[in-house]
Amino acid sequence: MVSVKLENIVKTFGETVALKGIDLEIKHGELFTLLGPSGCGKSTTLRIIAGLDFPDSGTVHFDQDDVTYMSSSERGAVLVFQNYALWPHMSVYDNVAYGLKLKKLSKQEIDQKVKWALELVRLTGFEDRYPTQLSGGQQQRVAIARALVVEPRILLLDEPLSNLDAKLRLEMRSEIRRIQRELGITVLYVTHDQEEAMAISDRLAVMNVGTVEQVGTPKEIYEEPRTEFVASFMGKTNVVPAKVVDREGDKVSVEFESYRIDGLTYTEKSDDVVIVIRPERINLHPVDNAVSITGKVDLIEYYGFFIEVVGMFGNTRIISRTIGDKDIKKLRPQGEVTFYINREDILVLPKQNL
Ligand code: ATP
Repeated sequence: MVSVKLENIVKTFGETVALKGIDLEIKHGELFTLLGPSGCGKSTTLRIIAGLDFPDSGTVHFDQDDVTYMSSSERGAVLVFQNYALWPHMSVYDNVAYGLKLKKLSKQEIDQKVKWALELVRLTGFEDRYPTQLSGGQQQRVAIARALVVEPRILLLDEPLSNLDAKLRLEMRSEIRRIQRELGITVLYVTHDQEEAMAISDRLAVMNVGTVEQVGTPKEIYEEPRTEFVASFMGKTNVVPAKVVDREGDKVSVEFESYRIDGLTYTEKSDDVVIVIRPERINLHPVDNAVSITGKVDLIEYYGFFIEVVGMFGNTRIISRTIGDKDIKKLRPQGEVTFYINREDILVLPKQNL
């Protein structure tokens, strides 16, 4: 188990600046996720932590050790690849035992450790099977057992669930979490799936074109996004361009379309802003001291355990989400609708050039 510290990591590939000076700290025994869209630099960061690639500048520390230019095995990092990379001609047992044989452990020690690792991933009894005789989820478990059996200081997982179907993805997600908790091992996880990142992580870093936009717990990232990019990347949300038209201390008034909202908190300089409102924070019935905006019903969609009412406010679509709100009965397509939102549920953030 190890803590990891990245300081000012820069990495270029020819003309492409893949990482523009990344700082990150991963704590002892936490499951830390790098989340971001394709090409933002997740895999490059992971490979630099794994020791499979080296930065142009900056340092990587594992606890007190500078491991920037050490190989994977020297630094004690093991990466589980997206396609598992199992050896097809080897049995499950031999796949898992491989790294231990390289370390020249005794047969008895190898046997004991392989047994432990297969038990951990719940594959006892599968020792003699070959990878082609396993389901995708089972192959993944073998890959994880093979990684863990050498007792790495950190386990790195690059989009480990992307080759599995939706049901197995959920199952393996909990499995990875269970194994990580059971061992208390530091895990670095990479995904572009925000829901997966939220569900599995202790903390996560949201990346955007070679930079880290925000680091925090899933709750912090979801509820207190610090940038427009983070807000819009974390699930379905309303991000509405607006202008600051008045300021008093840390309170501002903003306008979008023909609507004006007073008394919002905002302290940044730029008057070009977005207002961010989570759909589930919008009420369809009056709420004391809430802001209200009236527009037209565009759509009402039933999702079973919640209902979405999409309102048009001028040319701006705003989505609200409610659990069986009785006020919905009164709504008609193209009819009038009023959204009530508490001021603390409206975030004002500087507009970014995304
Ligand atoms: P994905 O989710 O698609 O895997 P990512 O967030 O992991 O994306 P990286 O693979 O780290 O992104 O890539 C970051 C940037 O660096 C991209 O613009 C990519 O094209 C570029 N890049 C990565 N590896 C190389 C390479 N070996 N040679 C050239 N460019 C590279």
